[in-house]
Amino acid sequence: MLRSVFLAAAGSSRLERLVESAPVSKGIVRRFVAGSEVRDALSTTRGLADDGLAISLDYLGEDTLTAEQATATKDQYLTLLGQLREAGLTPAAEVSVKLSALGQKVDDRMAYDHASQICAAAQEAGTTVTLDMEDHTTTDSTLEILAELRKDFPATGAVLQAYLRRTEGDCRELATAGSRVRLCKGAYAEPESVAYQSTLDVDKSYVRCLNILMSGEGYPMVATHDPRLIAIAEDRARWFDRSPDEYEFQMLYGCRPEEQARLAGAGHTVRVYVPYGDQWYGYLMRRLAERPANLAFFGRALTSRK
Ligand SMILES: Cc1cc2nc3c(=O)[nH]c(=O)nc-3n(C[C@H](O)[C@H](O)[C@H](O)COP(=O)(O)OP(=O)(O)OC[C@H]3O[C@@H](n4cnc5c(N)ncnc54)[C@H](O)[C@@H]3O)c2cc1C
Repeated sequence: MLRSVFLAAAGSSRLERLVESAPVSKGIVRRFVAGSEVRDALSTTRGLADDGLAISLDYLGEDTLTAEQATATKDQYLTLLGQLREAGLTPAAEVSVKLSALGQKVDDRMAYDHASQICAAAQEAGTTVTLDMEDHTTTDSTLEILAELRKDFPATGAVLQAYLRRTEGDCRELATAGSRVRLCKGAYAEPESVAYQSTLDVDKSYVRCLNILMSGEGYPMVATHDPRLIAIAEDRARWFDRSPDEYEFQMLYGCRPEEQARLAGAGHTVRVYVPYGDQWYGYLMRRLAERPANLAFFGRALTSRK
């Protein structure tokens, strides 16, 4: 119930203006977002890399409706990749990209062209790109663009969402040599016709998908904070005899940092997804939808008026 309220709020531009203009304590945003500027992204990246973690940076923004905005987002990624390279932070850091921020909902060719330039800059910087997955109306287009990009940039990563009924099939398609696949539960409000609705069904789907990816030939990226699924992934990695450079765990910046450190300490590769930029509203609402404890934190931040 609370989840659907926040996911509906994530799409409300009126509420967005209200929340962004409220004197919300910077604490809540800072907990999940590295900061507004590239320099904030770089300093957070350095700190995480010094702790032995890998990073995927996301320049916040989605559902871009103009060509100018899409170009500006692409330019922001090119600047980021150039600076990561200069700072010696690649290959520890890669980037995550939302195609909707590159104009996918206006013209998917434009999104492909921008994504291709970002992939070229990433390759030049010695690192990779992962295409985030958004709501189910974009899944086919995103997978088509991924397939195109992989012709020139085979290391481009995909994201598959276990809550979608189609995902087991997509896992089979993508569990091929060299294919990097991030498996997550899924963060959008989706109808029953396309997505499992109960947490149990989503978790069961996650395990089925994990089995396909771990037993396949690709590179699984296990994106979850769920202790049970992490334990199952550790078990499958052992079962399928995968060494630590043949899969990785991924978690969001600000979520379960002790678990990130524990897994890294145990010899696993752990990548932290680090968002930065001003357009944090939709991202924050999805994090609030996931976890009531984040809501209490948000409430305290709102009332502290700092
Ligand atoms: C690296 C990364 C990239 C992602 N990319 C995408 C994407 O491209 N598209 C998309 O739709 N979604 C994406 N997501 C979000 C994802 O789909 C889920 O919405 C999100 O990860 C929450 O699901 P969960 O698996 O962590 O488990 P949940 O079902 O949220 O939580 C399960 C259990 O995990 C524990 N837990 C969860 N969070 C915490 C916490 N902060 N602190 C302590 N315990 C906690 C609790 O025990 C909880 O009961 C991404 C997630 C990650 C980690």
